[in-house]
Amino acid sequence: MKRFLKRAAMTALGGVMLVIGIMGCASGGKIAFTPGVYQGTARGFNGDVTVEVTVDAARILDIRIVAQNDTPEISGLAYERIPRAIVAGQTLAVDVVSGATFSSNGVIAAVTAALELSGVNLDALKTRRPSEAGAARTAETLDADVVVIGGGGAGLAAAISASQNGAKVIVLEKMPRAGGNTIISGAAYNAVDPARQRPRGIEDSIDLHYTQTFEGGDMKGDPAMVRTLVENALPALQWMESMGMEFTDEIFTVLGALWPRSHRPVMPLGTGYIDTDLKYIAAHPDLITLMVDTKATELIVANGRVTGVKAEGQTTDYVLNAGRGVVIATGGFGANKELRQRFNTQWPDLTNAGTTNHPGATGDGLVLAEAVDANLVGMEYIQLLPMGDPETGSLSGNIEQAVEDRFFVNKEGNRFVDEGARRDVMTLALFEQTDAYMWVICDRHSYPTPQVKNNFNESIEELIQQGRAFEANTIEELARKIGVPPASLQAATAEFNAGVDAGTDRFGRTLWKIKIDSPPYYAGARIPTVHHTMGGIQINPQAQVLDRQGRIVPGLYAAGEVTGGIHGSNRLGGNALADIHVFGRIAGASAAAER
Ligand code: ADP
Repeated sequence: MKRFLKRAAMTALGGVMLVIGIMGCASGGKIAFTPGVYQGTARGFNGDVTVEVTVDAARILDIRIVAQNDTPEISGLAYERIPRAIVAGQTLAVDVVSGATFSSNGVIAAVTAALELSGVNLDALKTRRPSEAGAARTAETLDADVVVIGGGGAGLAAAISASQNGAKVIVLEKMPRAGGNTIISGAAYNAVDPARQRPRGIEDSIDLHYTQTFEGGDMKGDPAMVRTLVENALPALQWMESMGMEFTDEIFTVLGALWPRSHRPVMPLGTGYIDTDLKYIAAHPDLITLMVDTKATELIVANGRVTGVKAEGQTTDYVLNAGRGVVIATGGFGANKELRQRFNTQWPDLTNAGTTNHPGATGDGLVLAEAVDANLVGMEYIQLLPMGDPETGSLSGNIEQAVEDRFFVNKEGNRFVDEGARRDVMTLALFEQTDAYMWVICDRHSYPTPQVKNNFNESIEELIQQGRAFEANTIEELARKIGVPPASLQAATAEFNAGVDAGTDRFGRTLWKIKIDSPPYYAGARIPTVHHTMGGIQINPQAQVLDRQGRIVPGLYAAGEVTGGIHGSNRLGGNALADIHVFGRIAGASAAAER
């Protein structure tokens, strides 16, 4: 085969197509390629993805990812599975990988761009049914001591803890990879930690952490649960460290944490936690089995006791017997529009709201638990942030560096809220603006060079290139670029700068540092986004599930965001990672102890 290489980008195909079109031999829906190696580029989740596709006259032979910029722990599966599925099925009509939609679509678009150069009839290739027929379903029964449903931070902690307490464990994860919301979280972990805090002159106590957590949730949490959380936060952190989890020595106050007791992992986002868990699990294959692409569908109950789980794999239906207990650790319901709608009382209509959550955060565990009469508490407490990406709802693309150094304007170019207020106050105010849409405005103080990155590892330069942030040398020019009235944006900037001098403003803002007066000026759009669901299954301090009469449901445990009654009406920033590890660890030990 004569090897030649052509390049294409989805946006700039015209000229190249003319040449290649003559060589192409596709017509009337027939699939035929001009043999060769072709390159194509398209937008992935975080920048461009470039692929190289090899074809002979009749088939796609190979797809190679040449370049991409996404976080491997989060998007890696898209780069593995999509090329494999296209080659296996000889079609572009492949399913996206759940949890990696943008990367999946990026790969499909890049392959499409490359194949366009081969002269193939793209319409035929996009509508062709996969050549591999679906395999028939099989049934299988597996036995374990403990079955954990959900492979996020809480579930993996529960599995490890159960195994350390002598149990053989199966973990079910419905997505193609473990990690859930934990792996994409900001990852700050609150714990009173004198060894790290004292050298920095930070006074703290378990009682202070307790009071701030309890009062910060408007005293709606269960005091015994809050006490268990704060007392076990440091031991659980040290337990993670003993397995290789690394935190920096730094102690900081994550947004909404109220006190400097937040720990920052060394690895980006929540990847460090999941990486540590998965390494531990890989080192103990005789004790823990992780089954991905396997969704729990029902709890099995015998004689009033939960004894197992029914689950669906890609081609197999499972019955999983749990000799000692079942742990539900399926995470929250931030990505489930129906459940949000059912329980939301605090917010305007959330039907079309975005979410920072991964697509698997659909509250499955609540449905499983309700079927065995478990009590659900605090379901109306849904936390939103005002900082979602307008396209994805994710926190990525946020140009804010520090609360003090930026302000917000609406589509009319006017400020509308104290930009240092509580998360719920800012988000409610944003809902009242035109299209619930705002611009974050900052200047060179936030980005001394174009290479400075936000906490999603994105530089302002990249964000501008991608059209997700705007840059200008004057406020007037910035206003024109983002389509708000220049006079309003100038007035808003002047108002902010006057606030820096006065130390307050008409909204009662108290967090000020430096004037926004140093070009280049930057703007990035944000919308309200669903972040965390505080409500869920009621558990006791041993992580045993309680029913509607307050009785223990024998054999059933729960941990993590699927549980309720800990954070009350408002979760402090940095308390979720502590919660999932503290109660995941307890749930695993409790389940393993049961005979
Ligand atoms: P937490 O922080 O409480 O651990 P996460 O969102 O990190 O919550 O993890 C919950 C995990 O549970 C996710 O990986 C999610 O895909 C998984 N999950 C949700 N529902 C099911 C289900 N029905 N079967 C198996 N896994 C599930």
